[in-house]
Amino acid sequence: MTTIVRNLQLVRDRITTACFAANRHPASVRLLAVSKTFSAEAVADAASDGQRAFGENYIAEGVEKILALRGQPGPALEWHCIGPVQSNKTRLVAEHFDWVQSVDRLKIAQRLSEQRPPELPPLQICLQINVDGGANKSGLAPDEVLALAQEVAQLPRLVLRGLMSIPEPAIDFVAACAVHARARAIFDEINSAGVLPAPMDTLSMGMTADLEAAIHSGSTMVRVGTAIFGGR
Ligand SMILES: *Cc1c(COP(=O)(O)O)cnc(C)c1O
Repeated sequence: MTTIVRNLQLVRDRITTACFAANRHPASVRLLAVSKTFSAEAVADAASDGQRAFGENYIAEGVEKILALRGQPGPALEWHCIGPVQSNKTRLVAEHFDWVQSVDRLKIAQRLSEQRPPELPPLQICLQINVDGGANKSGLAPDEVLALAQEVAQLPRLVLRGLMSIPEPAIDFVAACAVHARARAIFDEINSAGVLPAPMDTLSMGMTADLEAAIHSGSTMVRVGTAIFGGR
């Protein structure tokens, strides 16, 4: 067994344990393996153990891996763009990725919708929210989320799936839960407003350091890099 496969199994165990601790079904949390800076071979290694969903931050690097791994035996991989998307990169993203979790402006969403090739299924979208006003300034302020969610939900070649949050590292479990609870509250508020064509089903939060706190707070997708692929 390779180190990556062993690490992947340890991360799955962490997710299962966190789900039981939170009284949740383990199948209610998906694992996104964040492969940024690691090779296509590392991705193939994780895929050989059944991992399907991979996250990339840098678009050119991600597209290179997507093309390198296209046509591999086994079920198709699912690629998530989780890094900043500039206007001049939207076409590449729309043509190659399955999901974009880092949308925080209408203009970017409109371009992704216009540029999504007609032969591909709609692009799956999460809005990036900034719940802690952290130094990392991308992401929507809490009071901007509902309006953009309604606009994105109308775009023909996009499907609004949910919200993504990347808070600053918290000092401990309790502090991490408090920040994740804010994202969860925004998610619940928007869904219960009943103004979207369909409720959002994805709350993407939690990474290597804080996946237990994120699952405790209602995350449905954890994005894990270091604990699977090693330090960057
Ligand atoms: C790098 C990255 C991750 C993974 O972080 P780890 O701490 O390595 O697990 C998750 N989400 C985003 C948006 C990232 O940029």
